[in-house]
Amino acid sequence: MIIPTLSDYEEVVGSDIIGELTTLASHVGKRSIKMVSSTAVGGGVAEMLHRIVPFFNEMGVQAKWDVIKGGDEFFEITKAFHNALQGKEEHFQQDVFKTYLDYNEMNNKELDLDEDLIVIHDPQPAALIHWNQNRKNKWVWRCHIDLSHPNAQVWGFLKPYVKKYDAAIFSSALFSPELPIPQYRFYPAIDPLDDKNRELDASYIDSVLAKYGIPRDKPIVTQISRYDPWKDPVGVIQAFKMARKYVDCRLVLVGDKAADDPEAEKILEKVRAEAGDDPDIHILLFSPSIATEINAFQRASDIVLQKSLREGFALTVSEALWKGRPVIGGAVGGIPAQIIDGYTGLLVHSVDGAGMAIRSLLSNPDFAKELGENGHRRVKDEFLITRNLKQYLLLLLALDRPSEHTIFLN
Ligand code: UDP
Repeated sequence: MIIPTLSDYEEVVGSDIIGELTTLASHVGKRSIKMVSSTAVGGGVAEMLHRIVPFFNEMGVQAKWDVIKGGDEFFEITKAFHNALQGKEEHFQQDVFKTYLDYNEMNNKELDLDEDLIVIHDPQPAALIHWNQNRKNKWVWRCHIDLSHPNAQVWGFLKPYVKKYDAAIFSSALFSPELPIPQYRFYPAIDPLDDKNRELDASYIDSVLAKYGIPRDKPIVTQISRYDPWKDPVGVIQAFKMARKYVDCRLVLVGDKAADDPEAEKILEKVRAEAGDDPDIHILLFSPSIATEINAFQRASDIVLQKSLREGFALTVSEALWKGRPVIGGAVGGIPAQIIDGYTGLLVHSVDGAGMAIRSLLSNPDFAKELGENGHRRVKDEFLITRNLKQYLLLLLALDRPSEHTIFLN
């Protein structure tokens, strides 16, 4: 793939937006930024950083991205923290917190964290701040997960670290907790020109479906997500089975395993058990996945589902809407920001609701098409990577003028 440069985006978003970014970057000047996250592959955070970091460099803002190290022991703990912060009830022994801190301390020794702005993504590296309290630079904690119902023990442990940051960024005002530091709201974003989202030839789409043995004899309903309980793949199969009693269709589940997720195998077993030997249900495991193939599956789908139970944002929703697909999404996390119910997609609260929504859209193709078209426009206005770049540039400038309030950097 030829890596697009900023000017290639003019055709998609217009020259005024690109001009605005260039002007902002010139004000940011020689400031440097470093992103720190826990995996380079799998999941939405890695997806976004792979694009954003090169763009900063193109605009003259020095940007780097470091990935922390951790063994199975660490990632099992951080996955359990992730689940707990999204609301799972679990009680942790004290040694778990000590192990988490030991890995953060070890990473702190290995990382250079001297850039003007350090953006720490998600809970895994959040405690790095502890060893950097006499810093001269600014540190921001970027939370991508749904913090609307956090487990009190884990949030009680993490919050004192978060409070030490200069600011925090959340994907929705719905999860914004009480904190004594400024908070920013950033929506995540997709890149319209990368392999995941660019236009594809119909013949390539056909070849991908043929490669994975998916016949195109009936409408295809797809969910593309990590095999994770919060993405509710089992609920997707149940909803599909309900809808199929009325409208013939095929279900394709596409998922990969994030390198920092030891739980995926267990979920897959449950998914396979729920699917049984149903010939209309296709369970694909990509590890890691090829972006153009994901793109092809989204484009080949008559309906894209994202039936999450908790969700930071769900890039998959914007990806599918960008392709003009009708999307059915769980009414959680950042999904309602993308899906305006009945206008840019359908929001659901249950398996039954998802089953009814599939049935309704497959029975009303004109309505489904209209939702997809409206969705495309919404993504263009709100959720493209150029908007996210602008927010980070504004953040670099805003940190010179701290405020105690929640700030929407549009
Ligand atoms: N994805 C992928 N392969 C898969 C499943 C997901 O490439 O098998 C991508 C998906 O297209 C999206 C990202 O991984 O770009 C997932 O981001 P999202 O915000 O939807 O969920 P997260 O995994 O971060 O919870």
